Amino acid sequence: MERIPALIDKKNKRNDKMIKTESKEVKKKKGFGTKEYAESNVNAYFGCSNNCGYCYAKKMAIRFGRKTEDNWREMVLNKKAVIKNYKKRKGRIMFPSSHDITPESLEYCVIVLRKLLKAGNEVLIVTKPNLWCIHELLNRLEEFKSQILFRFTITSISDHKLRFWEPNAPNYEERVFSLKLAKYKGFKTSMSIEPYLDADPIKLIKALNLYCTGTMWLGKMNYIKTKGILPNEKKFYDFQRKISSWYSIQKIISNLEKLPNEIKSKIKIKDSITRLYAKKGVVLKF
Ligand code: SF4
Repeated sequence: MERIPALIDKKNKRNDKMIKTESKEVKKKKGFGTKEYAESNVNAYFGCSNNCGYCYAKKMAIRFGRKTEDNWREMVLNKKAVIKNYKKRKGRIMFPSSHDITPESLEYCVIVLRKLLKAGNEVLIVTKPNLWCIHELLNRLEEFKSQILFRFTITSISDHKLRFWEPNAPNYEERVFSLKLAKYKGFKTSMSIEPYLDADPIKLIKALNLYCTGTMWLGKMNYIKTKGILPNEKKFYDFQRKISSWYSIQKIISNLEKLPNEIKSKIKIKDSITRLYAKKGVVLKF
């Protein structure tokens, strides 16, 4: 039996207030970001040890004073989220949306997930999958299999790029193995390639299509910083800007359209790209 801290400290209350303000801001943007994936989100931690270079949750946490550049990677337990008794909610719940499930955070993540699932919720588990964590989740949530959809974030086939943009997240091979294991164990699987880090993300789609029982989501990097870039980082930022350009996106979409229906039918394009087309009066068919 896990020990659940009995008290909710002042810091957690302060974080709650700031998250409410932040949520209002996000809600203004209809269908934005995670709202494309699920009706609501639940998180068990503040901060994320993966420390991805493009993280929107990090950007917002720093902006609203909940975290700093230096302490974002320290994952602080949201005791309130762990103690809470969850009810059945309308629509699918995404867990987590502003941290990841890591070996250090797994125990409390399982507690929250089991509460959500026991209440009868449909849960979308989104993660840059750590193989040990996935193995544990598959075993410990087996009884709720029909309520769970996994969405594994696999943004590149290149470990060189993954190490730069997602420095503490698992490598490509580990993520692919996790995806295969979840599929093999009979769970519903899907993939997020957002933000794509390769010039041609279709290679990734073709390589992993067989292991996704559901959708494969493609999105571009939304926030590519222009200031504070070190000389050794410049080539990564330049490359990312190039592959996120309107010209590159059009090329990718045009190549996606040529894929066989069996693959094409699983592809979903994120709002980061559909909004660009909408501005030009084009509705994408994906
Ligand atoms: S895994 Fe997600 S929440 Fe964690 S740092 Fe990366 S983008 Fe942010």
